[in-house]
Amino acid sequence: MAEIPYKIYLSENEIPHAWHNVRAVMKDKPEPFLNPETFKPSTRDELCNVFCEELVDQELNVTDEYIEIPEEIRSFYKMYRPAPIVRAYNLEKLLDTPAHIYYKFEGNNTSGSHKLNSAAAQIYYAKKQGLTSVTTETGAGQWGTALSMACAYYGLDLTVYMVKGSAELKPHRKAVMQTYGADVIHSPSDTTEVGRKILEQFPGTSGSLGCAISEAIETALKTPNCKYVLGSVLNHVLMHQSIIGLEAKTALDKYGVQPDIVIGCAGGGSNLGGLISPYMADKIRGKNDIEFIAVEPASCPSLTRGFYEFDYGDTGRTTPLMKMYTLGHGFIPASNHAGGLRYHGMNTTLSKLYHDGYMTAKSYVQTDIFDAAVQFARCEGTLPAPESSHAIRAAIDEALKCKETGETKTILFGLTGTGYFDMTAYTNFLNKNMGDYIPTDDDLKKGYDSLPKIQ
Ligand SMILES: *Cc1c(COP(=O)(O)O)cnc(C)c1O
Repeated sequence: MAEIPYKIYLSENEIPHAWHNVRAVMKDKPEPFLNPETFKPSTRDELCNVFCEELVDQELNVTDEYIEIPEEIRSFYKMYRPAPIVRAYNLEKLLDTPAHIYYKFEGNNTSGSHKLNSAAAQIYYAKKQGLTSVTTETGAGQWGTALSMACAYYGLDLTVYMVKGSAELKPHRKAVMQTYGADVIHSPSDTTEVGRKILEQFPGTSGSLGCAISEAIETALKTPNCKYVLGSVLNHVLMHQSIIGLEAKTALDKYGVQPDIVIGCAGGGSNLGGLISPYMADKIRGKNDIEFIAVEPASCPSLTRGFYEFDYGDTGRTTPLMKMYTLGHGFIPASNHAGGLRYHGMNTTLSKLYHDGYMTAKSYVQTDIFDAAVQFARCEGTLPAPESSHAIRAAIDEALKCKETGETKTILFGLTGTGYFDMTAYTNFLNKNMGDYIPTDDDLKKGYDSLPKIQ
């Protein structure tokens, strides 16, 4: 076999021409979204009140395994794709492991993460539908940045509700969004009813993703020619991210490399779902026996400690109900949590696959995550995002297991982004100012109690 280079690059022509829709292959599909008033499946029309039509059609499509990527979106992708697959030779050497480690790096664009893959697609469809503006929320800021870039490119106005705590911690993120022309509002804000209500109830709150979502939806509903767009959790977002897995598989197949373990960090589930998509389809078809591992923070453990129930996607209870692993829409992670991935729920497809035993999940405390991040930065050169470092941590641990057993496993993980805007968190870690907090069962109970009683 040819020697494997440090980086496997694909050509522009090898950017996939279609996204992969793993739901088409699943024998048992994820449960459909429910209307929270009737408890009946949300209809296309109901969903189109809030979301773009073409995205709703993708969301509801559980039969087509491949969905064509319009040439206009492929042109956008060409500005920063294909993304390289890297063989982590330096990390392997440092760990002295017989394992072969590969990662797919998605941080080579100004937004600094994989989120641009879905932003480019969503705004293309919004434009095609004749919309003039969209609203969204952003927590850590990567999604807001990606969307600002896409909106600037396609010429749409954008309002971003940015979780107040993050906006104050990451002023440069906000500045990048503004540079691309976005209107950035700290959430909770007095521009929406739900925001005013939360401000009244919790004065001085630093906000939450669930609350910012409610504000963005409210504004979209009352603005003409405007829809709401979301950077994770939904199935069409996961499908757009399948470009990660499709490119990874094309690159690795060239060298006859088949992973034994595929690892991704899991917030709302889009990068992990996208990375594993083509490999999971093969597993469902009985063609491989890959171990898929979702990695989440111990402080926001939706898969490892959540319930598989119908729940709202937001604090303000405006979204349809989704059957997913959830900590309850009332859950808010501890305030010292710095590593991202703070969403209370998980994409419904991934939740179903996890529930049916097709993948496993584990969680880590944040100091273990930053330990891995620093180790990785020093040997592989790339400064990873804290979110991505959850996957690094798990990959290192799997490689160390191989060292003990002497097995030569092939490990693939998703390196979703760069950590340039997370230097406050890195500084806290380096100064030993970072604490770990694992919620007690009592803490979690408050979130569970917020689950809607529909059963
Ligand atoms: C948003 C984000 C994540 C988590 O989102 P998913 O939808 O779970 O992929 C992970 N890494 C980075 C760098 C992100 O920006």
